[in-house]
Amino acid sequence: MTDHAYSTDYDAIVIGGGPAGLQATLTLARVHRRVLMLDSGRYRNDPASHMHNVVAHDGTPPADFRKLAREQVAAYPTATTWEDTVVAVRPEGEGYAVELDDPDGTVLTARGLVLATGVRDVLPAVPGLAELWGDRVVHCPFCHGHEFAGQPVAVLGTVPAGHLPAILAPVVSHTTVLTDGAAPVPTAASTTRTERVTGLHPSGTGVRVTFVTGPDLEVAGVYVSTTLEQTTPFAEQLGLRTLPSGCVEVDVMGRTSLPRAHAAGDMAHVAALPMPMSSVISAAASGAMAAGSLVAALL
Ligand SMILES: Cc1cc2nc3c(=O)[nH]c(=O)nc-3n(C[C@H](O)[C@H](O)[C@H](O)COP(=O)(O)OP(=O)(O)OC[C@H]3O[C@@H](n4cnc5c(N)ncnc54)[C@H](O)[C@@H]3O)c2cc1C
Repeated sequence: MTDHAYSTDYDAIVIGGGPAGLQATLTLARVHRRVLMLDSGRYRNDPASHMHNVVAHDGTPPADFRKLAREQVAAYPTATTWEDTVVAVRPEGEGYAVELDDPDGTVLTARGLVLATGVRDVLPAVPGLAELWGDRVVHCPFCHGHEFAGQPVAVLGTVPAGHLPAILAPVVSHTTVLTDGAAPVPTAASTTRTERVTGLHPSGTGVRVTFVTGPDLEVAGVYVSTTLEQTTPFAEQLGLRTLPSGCVEVDVMGRTSLPRAHAAGDMAHVAALPMPMSSVISAAASGAMAAGSLVAALL
């Protein structure tokens, strides 16, 4: 645990130091709210070497983006950031108490909260897939697509097969849908293979896919769909309303079902949107919105 200089009340505690939490902290700091950002140091895009589709940061390593954001936040005298893991959050008085995972069981209080703890990707259980996750096994054509330009790719699973081949068609040379034993689905792909996949292996092309029967397949990258899980139990601890996506329900201002407990980034979902909008720029935008509306709620 970090050696804390003091532990008193804050105007706001931001839990999470990804793009959502960093932007929320900056927004609060700009109007000199006493804000503490707590960051356990595990980010969803850890496995990716570069991030894309982030205006002015296309191709920037995620760690460089966070470092720059941290440096800019540090210039504001009322903003503090600690490398700490939060284990519990509860309402206390007119605000919230946040308990840290340290030997002293440090508890910090704030009038308002911004939850920005992100989500965790649960990967398909295919041997070798996890080792390639992030750059050669990917999930999002906007984050990774152009990098495979003119090369063949595969889409693993029937869920992403419905839309990904058509999105990728102008970018890649060829898409093969791998149903992994399931029945084929209608798709824009020019090839479908239904054999069970036995493994993914690094290769000179990118990925070699092996099957129970039939020849191996060489592709530059493999698209998968992941199952998303909340990284923390804070929604249950606070009794926050959630959506079938598993995310905390927020309105367009980032407000949850509890007053002054706002949420942003991948963990939050505006019900009017068909899915949580997971990207660096959306996370940062929702962090600004949640923090701005928290400033208003604290007046
Ligand atoms: C492999 C991969 C590649 C991607 N590439 C791109 C890309 O190129 N472009 C793009 O726009 N998007 C990309 N994304 C999506 C992008 O990473 C997310 O949408 C974005 O990081 C969400 O930001 P966030 O702040 O909500 O969460 P995160 O960035 O995941 O941050 C969560 C924060 O919460 C903290 N936290 C969690 N639990 C606790 C706790 N108990 N106590 C304290 N802190 C805690 C974590 O330490 C972290 O600081 C990618 C995703 C993946 C999986």
